[in-house]
Amino acid sequence: MAVCEVCGNDYEMAFQVVTAGQTHTFDSFECAIHRLAPICEHCGCKVIGHGHVTDRRFFCCAHCAREAAGSAAHDAD
Ligand SMILES: [Zn+2]
Ligand SMILES: [Zn+2]
Repeated sequence: MAVCEVCGNDYEMAFQVVTAGQTHTFDSFECAIHRLAPICEHCGCKVIGHGHVTDRRFFCCAHCAREAAGSAAHDAD
């Protein structure tokens, strides 16, 4: 048995995720995403796919990366 570090659920099917040398325990992917997924700098959504990294800034998609970089390069899309 292991306790989810997000919601505290004590669940026999809990699983561990290791990131940056730290082990996290979750009862569900929803909790894992809540705790670990990066957040898009432009729209604020959780990035659960590959996402888009520009200049070490994390975005959910190329559109957001462009919008964030956008004001300088006025490129209509
Ligand atoms: Zn949980
Ligand atoms: Zn976004």
